[in-house]
Amino acid sequence: MTEVSVREIFKSYGKVEALRGVSFEAERGELFGIIGPDGAGKSTLFRILTTLLVADSGSATVAGHDVVKEYNAIRACVGYMPGRFSLYQDLTVEENMEFFASVFGTTVEENYDLVADIYRQIEPFKKRKAGKLSGGMKQKLALSCAMIHRPRVLFLDEPTTGVDPVSRKEFWQMLGRLKEEGITIVVSTPYMDEASLCDRIALIMEGRFIGIDTPRGIVAQYGAPLYAVRADRRGGLLNDLRGMEELEACYAFGNEVHITAKQESAETERRVAEALAAKGYGDVEVRRIEPTVEDCFMKLSRR
Ligand code: ADP
Repeated sequence: MTEVSVREIFKSYGKVEALRGVSFEAERGELFGIIGPDGAGKSTLFRILTTLLVADSGSATVAGHDVVKEYNAIRACVGYMPGRFSLYQDLTVEENMEFFASVFGTTVEENYDLVADIYRQIEPFKKRKAGKLSGGMKQKLALSCAMIHRPRVLFLDEPTTGVDPVSRKEFWQMLGRLKEEGITIVVSTPYMDEASLCDRIALIMEGRFIGIDTPRGIVAQYGAPLYAVRADRRGGLLNDLRGMEELEACYAFGNEVHITAKQESAETERRVAEALAAKGYGDVEVRRIEPTVEDCFMKLSRR
């Protein structure tokens, strides 16, 4: 069953075209990721789907309701965790929970079982002001507040941005458990490594989706042998590789440079290594690697 359906959404702020024809569908119980850099249009899309902003054109339904005509019905059945400012910093942990529950005409007790896994971890600090929590605890409280009315669909806008790696991992485990409850989750992230934790992902750039598939499907589309190159010097390495006629793509990737050849041959690794050695690089290593979602993003975004 389709829980979120988005058709050709456009939205501009004056001259800035934030969304330029975005379409996708998410099924009930699906964990759908929207992956892309700052400014790509993720928050704009979330605001439209949670009825806080109206698109210039296009249409969308959430839990079967039209986002414009039936905004009231949507507000009752979605949970939204915006990137920032979702908590009342001067209220305590339990006051925040009680506030969000009462806005939706329910109580914390009524839906405690749904949030228990997450909320129990912050309950020892329930008298603490939200503004005084650590980043990871704030995220847990914000997620608990977004879920306390037992929503059918959860929209989480960059829930792990600025959160430490351990809390990020825990957060994704919690999303996995919510999914098992049949809740549909649409989550955005700028972290490419989180893509593989989603059922399906959309890669977004400059207001457009440049790929939608399962993480494996996206990676399988890469379509060319990929190599990682490293050497004793990093300065100049990217530029020197970019100067090689036979290479198609060259981009920095952590401490290495990832490359693909225009014309793949059994000689590619050796030829690149020799060319770098001739330029005075030592410890040159060129090895074949499997592409990641980030490599696919780099490739698709060049088109
Ligand atoms: P993301 O969430 O991926 O960072 P946003 O949806 O916040 O992207 O922003 C998309 C584009 O729209 C950016 O260029 C941003 O600067 C612009 N933008 C977002 N909100 C506004 C606004 N209220 N007024 C003008 N421009 C905006």
